[in-house]
Amino acid sequence: MAHGHLIPFLALARQILQITNFTITIATTPLNTAYLRSAVASDPTLSSAASESSRLRLASLPFNSSDHDLPPSTENPESLTPNQVITLFHSATALESPSHRLVANIVAEEGRPPICIISDVFHGWATRVAENIGTVNVSFTTCGAFGTAAYMSLWQNLPHKSTDSDEFPVQGFPDSCRFHRTMLNQFVRVADGTDPWSRFFKTQLALSLGSFAWLCNTTEQTEVLGLEVLRKYTGIPVWSIGPLLPPAMLNSNSSTLTQHSGRESGISTQKCIEWLDSKPNFSVIYISFGSQNTIGSSQMMELAKGLEQSGKPFIWVIRPPVGFDPKGEFKSEWLPEGFEGRISDSKQGLLVRKWAPQLEILRHKSTAAFVSHCGWNSALEGMSQGVPIIGWPLVAEQAYNAKMMVEEMGVCVELARGLGSVVTAEEVRKVVELVTVEGGEMKRKAVEIGERMKAAVREEEGRKGSSVKAMEDFVCAILSAAGERRRAV
Ligand code: UDP
Repeated sequence: MAHGHLIPFLALARQILQITNFTITIATTPLNTAYLRSAVASDPTLSSAASESSRLRLASLPFNSSDHDLPPSTENPESLTPNQVITLFHSATALESPSHRLVANIVAEEGRPPICIISDVFHGWATRVAENIGTVNVSFTTCGAFGTAAYMSLWQNLPHKSTDSDEFPVQGFPDSCRFHRTMLNQFVRVADGTDPWSRFFKTQLALSLGSFAWLCNTTEQTEVLGLEVLRKYTGIPVWSIGPLLPPAMLNSNSSTLTQHSGRESGISTQKCIEWLDSKPNFSVIYISFGSQNTIGSSQMMELAKGLEQSGKPFIWVIRPPVGFDPKGEFKSEWLPEGFEGRISDSKQGLLVRKWAPQLEILRHKSTAAFVSHCGWNSALEGMSQGVPIIGWPLVAEQAYNAKMMVEEMGVCVELARGLGSVVTAEEVRKVVELVTVEGGEMKRKAVEIGERMKAAVREEEGRKGSSVKAMEDFVCAILSAAGERRRAV
């Protein structure tokens, strides 16, 4: 139940529809269904599958957040306190019965069970629905392989609890790949195995490990170690079918970019592109902490000063600092005195409130670097366009994504980690200088990784990229499992 999960699910549906004649039903809660409906309407492939052939259906599962001690109309983690977030996670397990009823209705209509259920890795209960209805469950992790494996192993084994040392090995990873205590998000850091976060992740991840197979939003050639670890850890087939991004991000022949956010934009795409057009190639720093995160007020001050001192043009998606209503008005007092006026007069910076057209920004030739919280969608979007990343991981598996992008890929430099880190304007200025060197090593590597991602989803002259093949293997495997089930009856 989060933007960063729903969008990859839609992208996955688009890919499956393109290579099969399957009918897909996407089931989620009412407000999330409404959001998906508008996203489908803005995507030509999906909307024709939904309206003309009825091959794409959206099913709204009954869900009332007030029944779970959550504020009314809460169906995603935005603007929630940590206690409310974990309550929301637990509340999702109440979707098991309605999901079962929905699939039972499909069985009654079609006269046979669905070929498979694809569930979010955090909704491990879907394995029970699949089993009860006589089909298989495939878990889909919308994160990368390295981040997923690290997240899972840390929650399941809590390795940091059995050592006082700051650096420690994590089960499943080679001994040389050590993790640091500061990489742990605030919940796993203090987890004891019985707290609500541990209970949720331990249960749901263990159930997901009982799936028929896993799908991962990544590519074979970019996440070699991550996939090796994930495959060993899960012990079941893992198909890497990513990057799941709009076609225009992966194919230069496809120029129309459809990205539906359902959010109130802080700037029109056209104005944003015009501003980028007015800047030299490879000069602009883009700063965004994803769909729901923000940084602390002193960090915000230093980031602003450092950006201004760097002299580089920048686009900053800005929202109130931690501790303030994330949807509330942004106050100038959170920035250095006179900052907004100066950067607007000099045209050095563009502050975007609420929501920016991120994909358009990342694929623009003026964009030089991406200050990112390393959420997996943002990471894929930046890397696919060959944009080096200045990492500032905040929560969830973001620090593991950053570690992998720094150590395995060489496309990222970490500026800060978490909300507690002290960042100075001078550090910001220096990192911007480091990453925006023309012809620099990080840029070269980012372009190389982007090319590999594009090659993985390409199919031309009979040659198929690894993700295209993985998608076909997945389809063959679920069809053959369905055939075996029918024969066994
Ligand atoms: N995004 C956007 N404009 C914004 C902020 C975010 O389009 O101003 C999109 C971004 O392109 C990405 C998603 O929101 O697709 C964020 O997902 P990610 O996994 O990076 O982070 P999360 O929001 O889940 O923490």
